[in-house]
Amino acid sequence: MRVCIHRGTHEIGGTCIEIESQSKRIVLDIGLPLESELSDTPLPPVSGFRGFDSSLLGVFISHPHLDHYGLAPKLLQEIPVLIGSAALRILEAASQFIPSEVNFKNTIEIKDKTPITIGPFTLTPYLVDHSAYDAYGLLVEADGQRLFYSGDFRGHGRKGKLLDRFVAQPPKDIDVLLMEGSTLGRFGVDDKYPSESELESKFLETFDSTKGMPLIWCSGQNIDRLVTIYRACRHSGRQFIADMYTACVLQSIENQRLPQPGWTGFRVYLPWLQKQTIIRKELFALAKSFAPWRIYPEQIKKEANKSVMLFRPSMRTDLEKADCLEDATLIYSMWSGYLERDQYRPLRDWLDEKSIPLVHCHTSGHAPISDLKRLANALAPKMLVPIHSFEPAQFPDHFANVVLKDDGQWWEPIAAFSMANPDNIEAPMNDDINSSIRELNKDINSKTGGGGKWPSSFDYIIEADRITLQANKRIDKSGYRCLDSWGIALFHEIKSKGKLDIKEIQFIINSNGDVWSPNDEAFKRRVSYLQINNEDIVFKVVHNNQVINLYSQKELFERPKTEIIRDFLNSRGDDDKGHLLEKSFQAFLFGKGLKTETRTNDRLAILGEDFFQLKKKQYGVLREFPTGAFLNNISRSDQLTPTEFVDIVTLNRFGYLSVIELKLDDPKLEVMSQILDYALYFACYADKILDVLSNNPDLNMKPLKDKIMCYVVNNRFHARFDDVFQYYSTKEKSYKFQIFKVVLGDTKE
Ligand SMILES: [Zn+2]
Ligand SMILES: [Zn+2]
Repeated sequence: MRVCIHRGTHEIGGTCIEIESQSKRIVLDIGLPLESELSDTPLPPVSGFRGFDSSLLGVFISHPHLDHYGLAPKLLQEIPVLIGSAALRILEAASQFIPSEVNFKNTIEIKDKTPITIGPFTLTPYLVDHSAYDAYGLLVEADGQRLFYSGDFRGHGRKGKLLDRFVAQPPKDIDVLLMEGSTLGRFGVDDKYPSESELESKFLETFDSTKGMPLIWCSGQNIDRLVTIYRACRHSGRQFIADMYTACVLQSIENQRLPQPGWTGFRVYLPWLQKQTIIRKELFALAKSFAPWRIYPEQIKKEANKSVMLFRPSMRTDLEKADCLEDATLIYSMWSGYLERDQYRPLRDWLDEKSIPLVHCHTSGHAPISDLKRLANALAPKMLVPIHSFEPAQFPDHFANVVLKDDGQWWEPIAAFSMANPDNIEAPMNDDINSSIRELNKDINSKTGGGGKWPSSFDYIIEADRITLQANKRIDKSGYRCLDSWGIALFHEIKSKGKLDIKEIQFIINSNGDVWSPNDEAFKRRVSYLQINNEDIVFKVVHNNQVINLYSQKELFERPKTEIIRDFLNSRGDDDKGHLLEKSFQAFLFGKGLKTETRTNDRLAILGEDFFQLKKKQYGVLREFPTGAFLNNISRSDQLTPTEFVDIVTLNRFGYLSVIELKLDDPKLEVMSQILDYALYFACYADKILDVLSNNPDLNMKPLKDKIMCYVVNNRFHARFDDVFQYYSTKEKSYKFQIFKVVLGDTKE
């Protein structure tokens, strides 16, 4: 068994653990880091998350808190998700109202103490007490080793007995315990938290001392807390007004022992914001199902002193309009840290303005150190690895056999104890590789953006034998061109450092909808060529979560008859912008200023040997020659590959068609992809293009048919150009084209 904590060794939030056995893998939790947005947080580098990989057997979600499942909407939907059935229903109910929708297609229901076997793994979930409902710890058995993952837990909630029972009869022979430590650094060793039942009395007191309506701001998914509040309501003789979202969540659990619509004094209110969601998503039947218990704004004022109402900041206007805030109190029932954030300043001001007193009434969802110790002592692991904590370094002060790990590091549960065995050289070797991976990842990711550096439009992920470039935003044509040229550059860089044996280059692109754009097609053709030209590397393209089958050599070069090109030559004319160096140079080579009939390509002598003494040959020269293939019709909607204008098309001194891309003072690496685009266009549609050119009497072009010469010209090339060029170069292989580099002003010594 090998383990990698992708995130969580030094933070609370974003937990993700990958476990491998016999080349199969499972993942425990796929959380969103705290204070992060789903849209700008990439998935951890787990093979199978983005492109299908059958060795990834499933993802276990310990409980429905964002820091444990929040990145799940980005997962491939085929991946089996192991989750408690009530947890799943809560997420589904909630996603009707909140934007982070989960949509699991393939779930495996987990049950308390019921083992599930998946490949080499036996997984046994243990229901735990936590502020999320249906939360589990997990025993993972594989290769004769036993790992226990605590998930998030406590012993002072409404299911506190679960911890008592667990420590009385813990699973035995635990090799490694991954234990959460949320409370380390926040509270003292002997601090205790109030239990939910103690909290109940505090709520009751506040209800009794409030003349108007107590408003309670708590999570609609903290079921223990909702039970506490409902019970306090019953004792105080007040009715409980839940917003529709919370009512929906409570109902979804399908546990008749939990308060829900239909219970005495349980009312349902539909705030304006939730109403807009109902209208937008047409959830009218859902809204109607709460009709018998609804309470409307005009009733609230009258019943305020007999009610307790759940509150969220977005309900301020609702409440003002209902005119029900006289002598109200706000009870804040979440972690105090949130309230101090800047985003809640308007709320704090609002409370002042309305003279609404604020009362804090909360208990933690996590175990204090004393309960963490009970769990650790009961399991007595050979190795305890801290997770879900901002203070892993404090663990050794409180627990035995603590081994600290880093994010992204692969390790074995017994590594610390097998070092004594001289035969076991694998562990240190793995550590070497892992530290190299970490180092390289850090190095590359610290050098993105800015001139000449790694383009910032991609995430770069380095694994033991594969690199991945993932577009982190929508990319345009030049973004696509960076993808393959910089992918090759990264491959070469790592290869030349000799630390890892990278075998695969993976590109991940996501476009809106399922549209396959001309840029996607051009990219696929380039990568197909790279694959054909570099047999010892595996190239993979994943588009909108689908692995794209690359073209074979035959498919790439022998295009179907239905693919057509422009069969006319309309010149783009002489309307160049003469003040641009590159354009002026192009105009000079084209013969701008000379009469049309004298426009021959003898000025190309400046490009060296292949264009030597052309004067007598009088070959014509074309400027801004359009490329672009179409399906059946020449129209925008039938475009297969983008239309690009090649700087110069002519013949060289041997009589071969020559395709020339000119640059001056512009050393971009992606010019490599650009010249390959042109080369593939001319090679794939050579017969048609040569026909068009040969049949034009003005051009004096009768190109030889067996090869097309592609020249990329510059006075200075990107520092990585030569490294990258060798993978694109046709070398001694016989394709229908060759690519050459021409350095202007070259002064070789
Ligand atoms: Zn949690
Ligand atoms: Zn958590």
